[in-house]
Amino acid sequence: MSAHMITAQWTDIPDDADELALVGGGFRTYRCACGAPLADRVAAELHAMETDQCSACLGSADEEVVPGFVRRCPACAATGRRGVQLVWEVAHGQAERMISLAFVRSLVERFDGPFRLSEVADAVRVQLDLPLGRLPVGPRVRDLLRELEAAGELVMVSAPDQLLRGASVVLYRDPQWQRV
Ligand SMILES: [Zn+2]
Ligand SMILES: [Zn+2]
Repeated sequence: MSAHMITAQWTDIPDDADELALVGGGFRTYRCACGAPLADRVAAELHAMETDQCSACLGSADEEVVPGFVRRCPACAATGRRGVQLVWEVAHGQAERMISLAFVRSLVERFDGPFRLSEVADAVRVQLDLPLGRLPVGPRVRDLLRELEAAGELVMVSAPDQLLRGASVVLYRDPQWQRV
């Protein structure tokens, strides 16, 4: 156990809790094994950064999105380390520059029927000659597909894989869209 192991504990969550605040780290109390006072989420993130830990998962390498649902921390590739988080942030920026909306739209135009996020991400990797794991292609492609969906060019055709908290905090593993 590290000297700065930061842990979070859930407080009572009201039924009408703000979902954004909930998944963003609210409704928790934070403490560090070193005894540093961590009054809120911001203090916990700062303490994680100054002790070389990922500010998203606070060094734990995973993320409890809602009580009982834990996933690998996407910000630090589940390492818990600040250095990896910073490298990954740069990679996200690089993916944003390399993968444009127009590019993804042109790939999507090849599909007549429904297609999966993973199929478009694979097509992007092939076109740009990117090995798997080199850049966060999936998250970038997902953002752009959601943008096309918001613009009315695509419609999501899959149901969520899991309802994490009612119908408002839901999980899609590999969603499908279709062109309108
Ligand atoms: Zn500490
Ligand atoms: Zn992390």
